Amino acid sequence: MRNLFADRINDIPKSFIREILKVVDDPEIISFAGGLPNPDFFPVEEIKKASIKVLEEDGSNVLQYSTTEGYLPLREYIADRYFKRQGLKINPEEILITNGSQQGLDLIAKTFLNEGDGVIIEEPGYLGAIQSFSFYRPEFFSIPLLEDGIDIEILKDAVVKNDCKLFYGVPNFQNPSGITYSEENRREVAKLLAESNTIFIEDDPYGELRFIGEDVPSMKNPLEDNTILLGSFSKIVAPGFRLGWVCMNKDKIDKVIVAKQASDLHSNYFAQRVIYQYLIDNDIDQHISRIKEAYGRQREKMLNSIRKYFPSEISFTEPEGGMFLWVSLPERISSLELFDMAIKEKVAFVPGSPFYVNGGGKNTLRLNYSNVDEAKIEVGIKALAKVIKRVINR
Ligand code: PMP
Repeated sequence: MRNLFADRINDIPKSFIREILKVVDDPEIISFAGGLPNPDFFPVEEIKKASIKVLEEDGSNVLQYSTTEGYLPLREYIADRYFKRQGLKINPEEILITNGSQQGLDLIAKTFLNEGDGVIIEEPGYLGAIQSFSFYRPEFFSIPLLEDGIDIEILKDAVVKNDCKLFYGVPNFQNPSGITYSEENRREVAKLLAESNTIFIEDDPYGELRFIGEDVPSMKNPLEDNTILLGSFSKIVAPGFRLGWVCMNKDKIDKVIVAKQASDLHSNYFAQRVIYQYLIDNDIDQHISRIKEAYGRQREKMLNSIRKYFPSEISFTEPEGGMFLWVSLPERISSLELFDMAIKEKVAFVPGSPFYVNGGGKNTLRLNYSNVDEAKIEVGIKALAKVIKRVINR
């Protein structure tokens, strides 16, 4: 029979997490599986006001086609925020508005990757990036994450032996591990990459959600034009807008704009206008403070419950921000098997192995704390501990 599908789609599995989310749809299940922001903080009323305002003031324009680059005042706002928060000087011309940072990843892969090109990725790595890049059949070099960032020795080896084009990383509160690269780790990564001309893709959807410690400077500081920054409104306003951005120097962004034109002409212009109106009419810093305060408490509750109920041989990360933490079980335990048992106890998580591109991670799992209230966090962790103990003691 004729093979209808292109080779590039045949290789790619469906997103494991999206499949899992279907299983855990049962409202009785306490789900630490999703990566969802807490909807209590979606600014529904303010967005309603902003929508009415742009429709009343500029209705026929906001419903029209627009430029591929995105709404200029929104790009200026993003550039200005980079400067205020991180001292980064970015020209709005170097920013392209995308349908979430996920589209940014797809466009970057489309623009930069030939088959067989080397891509360095964290291990465990963000599944959405692995999926986007895989379409272009690169060779992945996965580098383990340690407590304070990337394993420099292994990175050195990969960089020296292979001519990698890209390094994709999430230096702040990484998805899935919750790990943050320390300042020293970033410096060492930058030194190695500068020598090899590898571009660092800094994906930073969680950077504004720090509840402990001090911000660590972006990789753009040492690497300048050898960085691509990805940002998103999903975790600080609402993911349903599907609005994010990519940021890179002019010659690179011009190519990515061509890729975006072919994909969708431009991101939803009405949504861009509404989010911009929302941002200028409201105190976004105060809004983010409220999110951080809640997630900080939820994280604390999860860590305390883990300390209280999990057996002592189990290790876990203690994130300084973001939405996830990472659990490592004894080597002999499979988290996939544990998942089926946990569902029967009405608690869910994401098994760790899909986050590893070259196998491994079978004894690991990801827990999300942003979308479960504190009382349920304790109940869910207690149920999970019961299942873990059952497997350990059998
Ligand atoms: N990068 C990372 C590391 C993420 O965790 C996510 C969301 N799960 C994304 C990118 C995509 O986010 P969005 O497309 O909503 O901006």
